[in-house]
Amino acid sequence: MSRDARCFSMALLVACLLSMGASYRTQNFIVTADTPELAKEIGDAAERFRRDLAIEWLGHELPPWNDICPITVQVAPHLGAGGATSFYFSHGRPHGWRMSLQGCRERVLDSVLPHEITHTIFATHFGRPLPRWADEGASTSVEHPSELAKQHRMLLKFLSTGRGIAFNKMFAMREYPRDILPLYSQGYSLVKFLLAQGGKQKFIQYVGDGMNSGHWTAATQRHYGYASLGDLQQTWLSWVKQGSSVEPEALAALTGAVAPSGTPADEPTISPSPSTEVASAAEPSAASSTNTLFAHPDNSWYARQRERIHQEDGPSSGSLRVDPPVSLLR
Ligand SMILES: [Zn+2]
Repeated sequence: MSRDARCFSMALLVACLLSMGASYRTQNFIVTADTPELAKEIGDAAERFRRDLAIEWLGHELPPWNDICPITVQVAPHLGAGGATSFYFSHGRPHGWRMSLQGCRERVLDSVLPHEITHTIFATHFGRPLPRWADEGASTSVEHPSELAKQHRMLLKFLSTGRGIAFNKMFAMREYPRDILPLYSQGYSLVKFLLAQGGKQKFIQYVGDGMNSGHWTAATQRHYGYASLGDLQQTWLSWVKQGSSVEPEALAALTGAVAPSGTPADEPTISPSPSTEVASAAEPSAASSTNTLFAHPDNSWYARQRERIHQEDGPSSGSLRVDPPVSLLR
């Protein structure tokens, strides 16, 4: 090889390394970012969230993963905040982690990262996919207050324009609906409502009970005292209408009216049909399902992410978590 060719090869190698950015390894993560400082900041924060959020939700830390979780980060001041985490389950354990984060530095660190880490904690704890509303609602609940305020504003808009999701339909969802954004804002609001009635660890026990038994009405009655998903929906809706206050007095005034009945009704089948249970204001209209925000390919960040991950990971969509940037919504 001539000297020129060697120089060229070296220059190419350096260019390749620079284009890959910097990487930083922790016990459970390897982060690739534009700068070593950012890679370290994200990696250390990921470990911290993995520990602290597991203690909050589960009451204990997670054991180290066998599979390291690669994180790629794209940070720019005006980038919409969003993320995606993919993995698959084998013998009750998640494998093949892949996480991508984007947004301004602050939102990546205080919202997107803890949201995605919460998905990994739930996947590790339960060993199988959660209902989407619970997974996304709970993961959203750990975001920065400014993101939560956006979700609340969107919820009010969705509920007033026929894009709410009936609870019997929402509880049965194993995949994202076509009109995906109401699932986030409504899931978050319901999780906030339930967390105000006993905290995070009670919520995890409830979700585990519902997943194990498959009887969400009975689980809802056992853990929170609502006689049915319809009761839960009506009380939640009243709570939203009255301002979503988590003050104990405001909650007691609402939930006191929903004492569980002495003789539990037979477990109704929760079917995707919105006519099975009461839905009223949260009933999705037929028109809304054909008029989704993401139907147009130009703003279909979600569809692009989904396609990208499918290409990389094959058709294991059951374990895909994709979180569209909320800033695309306006
Ligand atoms: Zn998510």
